[in-house]
Amino acid sequence: MSKVHNWQIGREMNYPYEPAFPRRQFAFVFNINRCIACQSCTMACKSTWTFSKGQEHMWWANVETKPYGGYPQFWDAKILDLMEQANPGNQQWSGKPSDDKQKPYGQFDGKTIFEAQKTLTPESARVLGYLPTDEEWNSPNIFEDNPVGKKGVRNEIDKEGTSLPEHKTWFFYLARICNHCSYPACLAACPRKAIYKRPEDGIVLIDQKECRGYRKCVEACPYKKSMYRGNTRVSEKCVGCYPRVEGKDPESDGQPMETRCMAACIGQIRMQGLVKMNNDGSWTEDRYNPLYYMVKVAKVALPLYPQFGTEPNGYYIPPRWVPRDYLKQMFGPGVDEAIDRYTYPDRELLAVLQLFRRSNRIIFRYEIKEGPKIYEATLRGRQITLYNDTVIAYGQNGKEIFRTQVEEPVHVRPNKHANSI
Ligand code: SF4
Ligand code: SF4
Repeated sequence: MSKVHNWQIGREMNYPYEPAFPRRQFAFVFNINRCIACQSCTMACKSTWTFSKGQEHMWWANVETKPYGGYPQFWDAKILDLMEQANPGNQQWSGKPSDDKQKPYGQFDGKTIFEAQKTLTPESARVLGYLPTDEEWNSPNIFEDNPVGKKGVRNEIDKEGTSLPEHKTWFFYLARICNHCSYPACLAACPRKAIYKRPEDGIVLIDQKECRGYRKCVEACPYKKSMYRGNTRVSEKCVGCYPRVEGKDPESDGQPMETRCMAACIGQIRMQGLVKMNNDGSWTEDRYNPLYYMVKVAKVALPLYPQFGTEPNGYYIPPRWVPRDYLKQMFGPGVDEAIDRYTYPDRELLAVLQLFRRSNRIIFRYEIKEGPKIYEATLRGRQITLYNDTVIAYGQNGKEIFRTQVEEPVHVRPNKHANSI
């Protein structure tokens, strides 16, 4: 085991290999507040990568209804339970979210899946995990739209209605893909060394020729995003649509494009990018990269289950209406700050949020041109002011991709089309 620094848990941790970081890292932000569970992302991925015989059960991209849904079923409850069994009562965070770049969310003092493995799994296992049963992979959208009521009963609807900050009856949609982790558990567990992380973009791939289908990656990935294919007897996982990210898609003019699931997103919740990395695994300061801004400056987007220890590169703007304890378990201690920032956005955040899904090109930099004040109000005792700023997105080659404004244009449909869709 090596000692590596994991900034998401604010400390050093054990990992089976020496750290090695890519020049840029595939990363994404999903705004849960906007997801409508239309599953366009799910189907875009399915129809691109997993439509063949033997892949029927595979959904590299999926959207599940929390708290009951999960693909495979109960994946997160099961791994959290195993971690708790390995370290009862001590899976806790200390400190507070702060501007300390080494520990922006405080410190996780419990055991990660790389540290808890010795307690529960055989000595040969490098990562704490479990292998889901076939049945658990069978129903990717189980419990869709099932809410939980205030007494913790499924489908119990509270008659008093709901209001922020926490709804008494709630559910939310959690869109998921592989997190192309900085410390991938799938890679750590593979006895064949068939899994690798690309130095140019950090995308994690399984070498199909090297894989012998031992399923150690399926067992180890805490997010359960590595999957076994029975008819070829090898494992497969999300490939980060790497030909698009490389700019090889015929549509892209050689410029990096976002993945299929991002480009298909109807709710405009998804933004994917390539963040610059330093040799020590920290993010290079890149103030006007939208992902850098949302994760490191505004801190409005948080990692999914940082306590697992894999340093996932998927970040989420948490849903505003969900009980905070549940969200803190899922996204760590930064939840209150992130929700506050999103609920009362400042001028820059509001402009950056307009960048989602105006184009399928990867945005490398943004610029804001200030516009006039258009709205002012008091919201739950706090003053909010909106400005019609223009935000401009630039691609890898430094050229403008698009520009858009905070105030959405109103289009009036002419009378002759009044009833058309
Ligand atoms: S999410 Fe799972 S499959 Fe993807 S890189 Fe991380 S550990 Fe590997
Ligand atoms: S396409 Fe977007 S809005 Fe629709 S389910 Fe997927 S993430 Fe949610």
